[in-house]
Amino acid sequence: MTFITRFAPSPTGPLHLGHAYSALLAHDLARAAQGRFLLRIEDIDTTRSRPEWERQIYDDLAWLGITWDAPPVRQSDRADTYRDALQTLWSRGLLYPCTCTRRDIAAAVSAPQEGAEPPQGPDGLIYPGTCRHRFARDTAAPPEGMALRLDMQAALDTIGPRAMAFTETGPTGSTPRPVPLGDLTSTVGDIVLSRKDFLGSYHLSVVLDDATQQITHVIRGKDLFEATRIHVLLQVVMDLPTPTYLHHRLIRDDQGRRLAKRDDARAIALYRAEGLRPQDIRAKVGLQAAVS
Ligand code: GLU
Repeated sequence: MTFITRFAPSPTGPLHLGHAYSALLAHDLARAAQGRFLLRIEDIDTTRSRPEWERQIYDDLAWLGITWDAPPVRQSDRADTYRDALQTLWSRGLLYPCTCTRRDIAAAVSAPQEGAEPPQGPDGLIYPGTCRHRFARDTAAPPEGMALRLDMQAALDTIGPRAMAFTETGPTGSTPRPVPLGDLTSTVGDIVLSRKDFLGSYHLSVVLDDATQQITHVIRGKDLFEATRIHVLLQVVMDLPTPTYLHHRLIRDDQGRRLAKRDDARAIALYRAEGLRPQDIRAKVGLQAAVS
């Protein structure tokens, strides 16, 4: 089986050292395995994505010595795939429309238990289910202009007692990781799979895109470990293959905080402007020189 991995940045800001580490690590592993390295531009959030950031991504990656083995896939070109998947999930009764704002959710979860911290999932507050039985679900197509949530319990019911697991590889070898089933209703809840303002959500598109690009190894930061459980669930529900995952360490700033888009001071473009070379970036993130 050919090793196929990808780097999937969102063009909503400059690439920083954390992105460089993720991209270089995936690229190095693909080259060492004589596999394929693919690029995906996660521009599904058209309100925040900018063409200039996309151009900068290509430019920074090429400067780092990274080459990709097929034209980049752009999520903004894949609306039909996301729409078809949503339609199928809707027809199976696994989605419901939701009109709650963040504020509605915060109010609903904080009211009953004064003082107690409301439970958080990978996407923020766990949805209390306000809209779960509020709108008709037996229409032919989902309503337009509303968010669609996955009915987590209904999704788990389609899987039955089947165990779910994924394989994680790391410096110490491969570890099978079980994904507890019942736990997903209380630790993840009814996640959004289609947002009101654009088709698809991160979780839906990433799973469909990895399947289309035939990704065998997903290499990404530890911050996405919890999201992986959601992705494995969606793969099983939609009958898609589950890749092997590698969750790498996070590059942190001097205060030990994880780098984010706001960390423009660590933007690759700025280091380039200051005269650093690609091997200096490798050294900064603790990677050896590239093997050619
Ligand atoms: N687009 C995501 C990000 O920039 C990465 C998605 C993934 O690796 O699954 O954080």
